[in-house]
Amino acid sequence: MSDLPNVRVNGARLWDSLMEMAKIGATPKGGCKRLTLTDLDKQGRELFRRWCEGAGCTVKIDEMGNMFARRAGEDMSLPPVIIGSHLDTQPTGGKFDGVLGVLGALEVVRSLNDFKIRTRHPIEVANWTNEEGSRFAPAMVSSGVFAGVYTKEFAYSRVDQEGKTLGEELQRIGFMGDEPVGGRPVHAYFELHIEQGPILEAEGYDVGVVTHGQGLRWYEIRLTGFEGHAGSTPMPRRKDALLGAARIVELVNKIGLSKAPLGVATVGMLNPYPNSRNVIPGEVFMTVDFRHPIGETLDAMGTAFREAVEDITKAGGLTYDLKEVFYYAPVPFDPACIEAVRRGAERFGYSHRDIVAGAGHDACYMAGVTPTSMVFTPCVDGISHNESEDIKPDWATYGANVLMHAALEKAEIVA
Ligand SMILES: [Zn+2]
Repeated sequence: MSDLPNVRVNGARLWDSLMEMAKIGATPKGGCKRLTLTDLDKQGRELFRRWCEGAGCTVKIDEMGNMFARRAGEDMSLPPVIIGSHLDTQPTGGKFDGVLGVLGALEVVRSLNDFKIRTRHPIEVANWTNEEGSRFAPAMVSSGVFAGVYTKEFAYSRVDQEGKTLGEELQRIGFMGDEPVGGRPVHAYFELHIEQGPILEAEGYDVGVVTHGQGLRWYEIRLTGFEGHAGSTPMPRRKDALLGAARIVELVNKIGLSKAPLGVATVGMLNPYPNSRNVIPGEVFMTVDFRHPIGETLDAMGTAFREAVEDITKAGGLTYDLKEVFYYAPVPFDPACIEAVRRGAERFGYSHRDIVAGAGHDACYMAGVTPTSMVFTPCVDGISHNESEDIKPDWATYGANVLMHAALEKAEIVA
């Protein structure tokens, strides 16, 4: 890239595109509501397709509605470098989550056109269907099908709250394409995304070099003690399930703190029974969420938790039923792709730090089928999945420039 010192994206054009896309599903508080496979999503997809065709790309749509806008490479026998993210949003979502990654990737293509840069590998801009998982659970289902994690039939059968299936809605908006989903070679995958956390902004960094996708373990526990009269049951005779739960809340927090800053641990749900002011709680249902980017550490958090639950319940005269209900393995991104992102940041003189993706991303599934990494930009106050989600135009530009460099390194410039 040293021979191309002036190649950078057009930040103003990128910002204009972001603002234009944000009009589709704009909310009164300045956010965006463009739920997957709704009429608004269809409008967003059509605008994106027009823009891609305007940039000379060939747009193909697969059977999951994933869109791939291909900029030809010099050697069409080579697999593409895919760059992208998602255009769908949460019900009270923002203008940038996902959208920056798709339109940043489009801006990369537009800029390569401006500078008449040719690459050996084709470059494809991707828009993944239903990343958010808000209307149809689970999240990232279509990159999941692409990567062979889910079957197409499973994805089609997902149901929203009105009883409509993902498959029907994909048909209805006219975006069930005929390309097979995945099963084709991909040279590399890069995704630009807002951090959705406070670290980069708080520490004053321009971009984040994403090294891992976080893994998680979810547990559900039911503690059983014995209901008794709050006035007449002596303290030593009690089997108070809520007291056990309180000790577990404290325990979970300690485990999180012991693995900070990378580890996090949360009790999000706590239902005591019978939940009456003068009854000693006889039963508690609670949920626990552990996350860490390193597999062994995440496992150690789970083990420490199980052992301490055993001790706490024994001491409190309680019995318990503990289930692990969800496990998502940590995703280490590809070292060469991470390095390409880091070099991109250095090339433009951007301050950068390594960072872990705390949320799930399509990149986490793509990492299973091709060398992958991500670029993060800061977001104001770390706020995301919120209408007030915000970034500075410069941050969008920095992120897109790094994305361009990383993609070019893999796609190889033809002199
Ligand atoms: Zn996202």
